[in-house]
Amino acid sequence: MISLFEQHFVFRIDSKAICNDISGVWKNCANSVYICVKRKNYLKAFADTSSIFTKNWKNSTFAYKDKFPPDSVLITYLDDQDKYVIPVIDRINSGFKLRNGTFHKGLDIHLTRTTPVKAAFNGKVRYARFNTGGYGNLVIIRHFNGLETYYAHLSRLDVKEDQLVQAGKVIGLGGNTGVKWSGPHLHFEVRYHDFAFDPEKIFSIKDSVLLGDKILLKKADFHSVIAASRKYHRIKSGETLSYLAVRYNTTVSKILKINPKLNINSIIGIGMKIRVR
Ligand SMILES: [Zn+2]
Repeated sequence: MISLFEQHFVFRIDSKAICNDISGVWKNCANSVYICVKRKNYLKAFADTSSIFTKNWKNSTFAYKDKFPPDSVLITYLDDQDKYVIPVIDRINSGFKLRNGTFHKGLDIHLTRTTPVKAAFNGKVRYARFNTGGYGNLVIIRHFNGLETYYAHLSRLDVKEDQLVQAGKVIGLGGNTGVKWSGPHLHFEVRYHDFAFDPEKIFSIKDSVLLGDKILLKKADFHSVIAASRKYHRIKSGETLSYLAVRYNTTVSKILKINPKLNINSIIGIGMKIRVR
């Protein structure tokens, strides 16, 4: 019996796997070029032919800031040739939400310093280094489905940039690098074209399963929109609402509207945090 790993698969180069022909040769079919590869070579064959791994492929920059999130996009995150692994199965300490005035773009999953952290899907490592922006030791994997996953605060990195990885590959160990005040946890993000959305829309960490195989995401699902649209200011000595209105090119009434706890007679004290956008 042939193991799954040695079976042949046929891939359409301009999209994803679509049929199971095992002829083993290049061929043209319905105006598309197909390549037949063995399972164990498929990652490499696909990586070499897919623009997913060339466009916005930067090792040194963790966030590449693509232009705008799409109005809506259908993402098939698991096709029949792919597989998935839940990176760490443990309790979630913090979710994808606005937290203390800044947006928390991922899930914080509890772990220990010896917990292996695993790649969620097959893909290629885009970033594996220490990040000074608060992520600590960070691995970013770009997947064949077009998504990127972020694994932050690792105590050890076990992969290198540009390395191909299969789902389940241990990419490092849990830790709290880049974090000042909390214990070890995995900060786990899922991004599409650099726009983060809630990982719990596709993963159930608790039940250790994927929720389906595709998702229709709308603009509102992407964190960057929310984060970019909100800005806060910490009041210093002598600053007033009129001062903020001028400084942030807005009006006092607009500031009051987005800060429901404030009114025109409120006393603006030093250290107060006020939303200005
Ligand atoms: Zn976090």
